[in-house]
Amino acid sequence: MSIKYVLINGTIISGVASINDCAISIDDEGNIDDVIRMRRFDSTQYNDSTTKIIDVKGAYITPGLIDTHLHGIGGYGTEDCSPDSILGMSEALADFGVTSFLPTVYTDTLDKMIASTKAIVAAMGKEKGAIIEGVNLEGPFISPERIGAQAPEGLQAVNLDVFNKLYEAGEGKIVAMTIAPELKHMRTLALEAQKRGIVLLAGHTNATYENIMDGMQCGILHTTHFFNAMSRLHHRNPGCVGAIMIQQDMKAEIICDGIHVHPELIKLLLREKPVSNIVMVTDSLKPTMQKKGELTANGVPALLKDGAFVSRDNPDLFLGSSLTLLKGIENMVSWGIPIDQVIQMASSNPARIYNFTHKGALIPGYKANITIINKDFSLGGLFINGELKRGLLSKEFVNVVR
Ligand SMILES: [Zn+2]
Repeated sequence: MSIKYVLINGTIISGVASINDCAISIDDEGNIDDVIRMRRFDSTQYNDSTTKIIDVKGAYITPGLIDTHLHGIGGYGTEDCSPDSILGMSEALADFGVTSFLPTVYTDTLDKMIASTKAIVAAMGKEKGAIIEGVNLEGPFISPERIGAQAPEGLQAVNLDVFNKLYEAGEGKIVAMTIAPELKHMRTLALEAQKRGIVLLAGHTNATYENIMDGMQCGILHTTHFFNAMSRLHHRNPGCVGAIMIQQDMKAEIICDGIHVHPELIKLLLREKPVSNIVMVTDSLKPTMQKKGELTANGVPALLKDGAFVSRDNPDLFLGSSLTLLKGIENMVSWGIPIDQVIQMASSNPARIYNFTHKGALIPGYKANITIINKDFSLGGLFINGELKRGLLSKEFVNVVR
């Protein structure tokens, strides 16, 4: 084994600690070799003449960003039901610092959901950018009262046959599923899903506080986009929002665009819940960061208004997010949240919650999935499995030291 890259002069936000003036070395098997302080780097000799020394010039070096809830980006979306579109997402995500993701299937007709799931599975292993970690199903067993932007024709009563059809289409690669815990027969479904290793999220739910407690009791321990499409906090019924705030063990996704949830509520959540149980997601739609062509989101012509997508024909109809994780990180830091906590929410926490092994932290032996974020929150560079995928190749950076 030899050292392929050493990134120097970085601020390491490891997911465990935050250290200035650091170097990180990457071996030729695609793993992190070591994280060391610059003064130790200065006295280290790398014998291998092929080792590339890259000066990141004070940028943040963070574990690769992980987006566990998004529908599309760059004009590619899960609604296309095409492996090429999922691979398009993989490449577009790399442009924004993401190294792993869960393409998320909308609630829709069963045929459409199956086609979308199959497309994701077919794309796995062929990525040129961010790694597809599996399938996230947003439904179809969700509440008609909190349906949000999901297709009403796709709603299903809880039905194990339907679940099994989706599971078969997923070939064991379904990682997450959003369900409404108050639906009849939910317990049976929850136990079945857990037997198969699926992380369950309460979401698109009109659950009472007690429904959420019952759900937690059968393993529904994560929640889909805090505050959005869930029963509100009421003083006589804390609902799903209240349950998330009250129950510290309950995990929560948050969309950090400042539109879906007011920044002060995100800060309130951070006071109530350990940071380790909060996961930043984008829930981004297909036209996010799309450069050319017509914008559509799940078949609806879309336009960008005040930072989110609305229907082109009816601008009062809100369609969803245009967020990237990189922008979400910038937002959170601008709201006064320490960057080491923000990186935990954008990488370490999803990796741990979804069991993405040896990901989400910069620790020797972990996968060299690394995002370099400039101080202005632009992408400085990106490594996936030890391969340099974005940035840092120019002479300005490489081998300037020795
Ligand atoms: Zn979604």
